[in-house]
Amino acid sequence: MQEAIKQKQRRLLRLVKSSGATKIDQKSVIDSDDYYQQVERYAEQIRKTSSADEIISILDIVLSETRGLRFSNEVFSAQEQVKLAEQKIESLKSELEQLRGLVQIDQMTGALNRRGLDECFKREAARADRNAQSLGVILIDLDNFKQINDNLGHQYGDSVLINLVTLAKETLRPTDSIARFGGEEFVILLPDVEMEEALTIVHRLQNNLARNSLLQLNDQETPITFSAGVALRTFGEYQYSVISRADKALYQAKRTGKNRAIPALT
Ligand code: GH3
Ligand code: MG
Ligand code: MG
Repeated sequence: MQEAIKQKQRRLLRLVKSSGATKIDQKSVIDSDDYYQQVERYAEQIRKTSSADEIISILDIVLSETRGLRFSNEVFSAQEQVKLAEQKIESLKSELEQLRGLVQIDQMTGALNRRGLDECFKREAARADRNAQSLGVILIDLDNFKQINDNLGHQYGDSVLINLVTLAKETLRPTDSIARFGGEEFVILLPDVEMEEALTIVHRLQNNLARNSLLQLNDQETPITFSAGVALRTFGEYQYSVISRADKALYQAKRTGKNRAIPALT
């Protein structure tokens, strides 16, 4: 009987592991004896992380271990508490999932984050297809940012990113959007533009940035610059495809001297 319970728990844990929640150091079998200690360890991991995704996967594990306990003879007298714990964890998990869905802004810069970009792209792509309009997709990457960090400190680097987003919001049209794609890379979406116009908008942002931020590097004043790849989305084109074309153009911009915008090939 005891062996059957343990087998069931092992199956549950395998299930949790295969669902992608593998970051956590797990014991292969959970007994009710060490359940509380285990929960305390998970609580400690939850306190340490600020990632909703990670918290949700930890809650998933706790939930399945708690469910596993329901089959344990040792906690037969505490079945009600176990059920309550289960409900509490489930509601916590769904609150967090809802919250995660709402968070679409990159905290530091105020640009959209990746989730926000996905939503925005979906919306703008659908609108573009519906109205037979183009959608400009610009991938930008700050030039020599490692050097900026190394010479002036990471905090200064952060303020450069914040400043870039502030300037972009001032420079772009209200219908345009900027998203942080990763580290010091951003994506700008420009609904209903042609290539010439998109390039003009990028150059305007490059000039504004250069005017607004001068660096004291190697004993001389150097403007902060970025390189860009500019693509126009074709009818029905997916996000990964248009961004990959913009990325190739960005690579060309870097290779041919940086501080420039290059149109992407279709
Ligand atoms: P390139 O002109 O070829 O783009 O050179 P680079 O130095 O900008 O490129 P690289 O990819 O080598 O370095 C990017 C740097 O951006 C490395 C990383 O430390 C820094 N970075 C990424 N995210 C942040 C951030 O949030 N804040 C700060 N301050 N730095 C960041
Ligand atoms: Mg980069
Ligand atoms: Mg860079």
